[in-house]
Amino acid sequence: MSGRTLADDTRAHFEATLEELEKRPVSWFRSVTVPAAAVERRAEALGFQDLAVRAKLLRADVLVREGRLERGGRWAHQVLAWAQQHDHPFLLARAHRILSSFYRQIGDLSEGLTHAVQCYSHLTDDEPQNIRARHLMALGIALDESGSTAEGGRRFREALHIATTVGDLELTMNILNNMAYTAFENDDEAAARDLVRHMREAQARSPRNFSAHELDTIARVEMMGGRYDAAEETLSGLLEGGGSKVESHEGDAPAVGLLTLAEARRLNRRYAAAQQALDEAVRIAEERGLDRVRAQAREEQAALYAATGRFRDAYDEHLAFHKSATALHSAQREARARALQAVFEATEARRASEHFREMAHRDALTGLYNRRYVNERLPALLGEALVGRRPISVAILDLDYFKRVNDTLSHGTGDVVLQEIARLLLEAATGPTIAARMGGEEFLLIMPDVEADEAADRCERLRLRIRAHAWEPITGAMPVTTSIGVTTSDDGRGSPSSLLSLADRNLYVAKREGRDRVVADV
Ligand code: GH3
Ligand code: MG
Ligand code: MG
Repeated sequence: MSGRTLADDTRAHFEATLEELEKRPVSWFRSVTVPAAAVERRAEALGFQDLAVRAKLLRADVLVREGRLERGGRWAHQVLAWAQQHDHPFLLARAHRILSSFYRQIGDLSEGLTHAVQCYSHLTDDEPQNIRARHLMALGIALDESGSTAEGGRRFREALHIATTVGDLELTMNILNNMAYTAFENDDEAAARDLVRHMREAQARSPRNFSAHELDTIARVEMMGGRYDAAEETLSGLLEGGGSKVESHEGDAPAVGLLTLAEARRLNRRYAAAQQALDEAVRIAEERGLDRVRAQAREEQAALYAATGRFRDAYDEHLAFHKSATALHSAQREARARALQAVFEATEARRASEHFREMAHRDALTGLYNRRYVNERLPALLGEALVGRRPISVAILDLDYFKRVNDTLSHGTGDVVLQEIARLLLEAATGPTIAARMGGEEFLLIMPDVEADEAADRCERLRLRIRAHAWEPITGAMPVTTSIGVTTSDDGRGSPSSLLSLADRNLYVAKREGRDRVVADV
């Protein structure tokens, strides 16, 4: 028997499902929501938190793609916080990529770039190639939009190389489309035409037709060189059969394409045909609530009136365009503010919970770590030592005759002494060494990677440092000394409690032999 349990099998099943969902082509992105929600719910119920979070991120991705930014951004931030806490590179990379898209959509290009760079820096070697290529493409887009055209281009080419090598035609097309649109926006007609040629070659090998978005890019490039007939031809499918022949994955792509068609026809002096395309664009925009496209249609309508000598109408339409554009801007500003607020709340909640967790791990009087922290941390450190076959030492310190300080001076003075001791401990606890107050006047040092001799030396130096400290202003003539018991596990073997009781036993010996001394293992 391999020892596999039912839970292992269920986990493997969820993992396979998630992997398939993560690799789905972008054109199917909506199909991910329902299965991802099912995995999330069931993984949550079975305590597979990492898988539940992974499923949630898939849903966040869909929301952001659909432009439902408040919830999508908030979820992506929650997943990012989880991935940071659990040091999960795969989820870190993906969450950063989705947040890159989120911030670009709300118009914060620099934050978008920051997340894209973070996404890239968390890429691991075992990431599937087509996911790697998507991350690279996101970085390319973010760089390009932030004005680093050359750097963006380099990432696009890298992503393109991967997508072509693994034979992912849809992704190849996606990257080429981005590159061509970028060349169009940068007014680089030669590059844009070359890229369109590549798009056509890729399409010839692909089972699917150009999407509305891709057709729009191609037509734009054709219009750059005044090839209006070609542009009309390219976009004509958007009018046939109510546009049902053309695939689209972005909600506004068909309407945007129709606006481009109207513009091409107007520039081609085919005014009646231009009006027809424009009317269809308006119909779709109104039906689907595409406010931005609706405003742009008014601008095109004004241009069309002007081209046909209807200057009064052109003027009125232009005013209407201005009014709707202004309203749109303030609506967009509000949406942006709401999305940011949602994300901000998620981040704040995480900070608060980190703060509370941190507080729960600290001793109120001295600020040192407390016993609870030691109980949580020591097993992990011991485990790390075992895995790396490295030594780890632990020392317990107990102040000598401390009751006298309290009784002869005052409890308040005793507290000040404890705080001074904490300061001296922190001074001694360099590198990975952890200093804690276990309670009363008892302290602990955990020294990862420190072998027995070195540990005993350090404790001895600390003992001398404490007795030599200038206590006079606090305790007058009364000295402050400590007894220390120290023990070492040479290779991480042993349990946390056995390590602590060995140190405690040595401490007891130090007390019995007269105090103010260090006792190590014999
Ligand atoms: P020894 O360890 O050398 O045997 O003698 P001791 O006097 O230190 O012995 P013991 O451990 O029995 O006493 C510890 C005292 O520490 C008891 C208590 O008065 C004092 N103490 C414990 N917690 C605090 C604290 O938070 N503040 C102050 N001021 N005193 C504390
Ligand atoms: Mg004590
Ligand atoms: Mg004591």
